[in-house]
Amino acid sequence: MQVEDITMDGHPVPVLIQSEETGNFELDEEALEEVLLNPRIADKYVCVLAVAGAFRKGKSFLLDFLLRYMSSQQSQDWLGDVNQPLKGFKWRQGSRRETTGVLIWSEPFLIKRRSGEEIAVILMDTQGTFDIQSSMKDSTIVFALTTMVSSVLVYNLMNNIQEDDLMNLQLFTSYGMLAQEDCDSAHPFQRLHFLVRDWQFPYETPFGHQGGQHLLDEILQITEKQHPAHQEVRRDLRKCFRDINCYLMPHPGFKVIQKADFDGRLADIDEQFVKHLLLLVPRLLAPENLVKKEIGGQPIKSRDLLKFFTLFMEVFKD
Ligand code: GDP
Ligand code: MG
Repeated sequence: MQVEDITMDGHPVPVLIQSEETGNFELDEEALEEVLLNPRIADKYVCVLAVAGAFRKGKSFLLDFLLRYMSSQQSQDWLGDVNQPLKGFKWRQGSRRETTGVLIWSEPFLIKRRSGEEIAVILMDTQGTFDIQSSMKDSTIVFALTTMVSSVLVYNLMNNIQEDDLMNLQLFTSYGMLAQEDCDSAHPFQRLHFLVRDWQFPYETPFGHQGGQHLLDEILQITEKQHPAHQEVRRDLRKCFRDINCYLMPHPGFKVIQKADFDGRLADIDEQFVKHLLLLVPRLLAPENLVKKEIGGQPIKSRDLLKFFTLFMEVFKD
């Protein structure tokens, strides 16, 4: 049977933009309002899923599969036709740098849970660096904002979880918490999801969620031999996030990284990667797995999220 192309409405909207003249970051409040105050969702609870991490590690590529899943209304056949090019947030081959910033998808998805409750899902892409060409401050503002406004933070890493990755995360959450000073809830942030791409040791620790949890338990373990700073970073992360998950993804295959005219079609992606997409994507976004954005322990509505973006920018100015 020929599966029809899944039609997708919308486009990426830059909401945090770096000015070319001053290098300063500015919020495009009008653009944000247009998405978050959309009457369809303004008074609904929100789940904000953001994918963060360094450049050229397949973040936008993954987000486009999340978009496809949401656009198909989370249907069983969400992957669609194997020859359909992958569209949505711009992903690309090569190593050229792009601008730094935060983008959200223009069309929020309104999802009804079994209980009848409706949740608006907002997908967020980040363009950060951590490379030597750009200052760490630029990356920090992008990822601190992302950490603060998201309810599911997918931290996209290549090959493994390194000490540096934990330290960076600790830095972002520390800024994120500044804007939540009146918060006395146990965990200021909701879900952190490490996503390890191109996992190379499946025979030691298998691909998928369970392998991921295993790796995570090992990495987040606190031992007496560790440097106090390394112990603290682990304690901080456990305190900051209500739950922490990890998923180990296989390599997507050589066509994905080498084929000059690769357009994201499934036919060119390794079967194993596709198999794990089918497991990972609903784990992140199936109706029962959606995590509502909370501030100070209370779920917030799309309209309130808008205020939170501006509040964050105020904090960061100082
Ligand atoms: P981003 O900068 O993190 O958003 O990266 P992109 O999504 O633009 O992807 C950059 C390149 O990585 C593209 O050529 C993708 O085809 C490729 N890519 C996507 N997913 C993966 C992956 O899991 N592993 C590897 N090695 N490459 C990937
Ligand atoms: Mg990208």
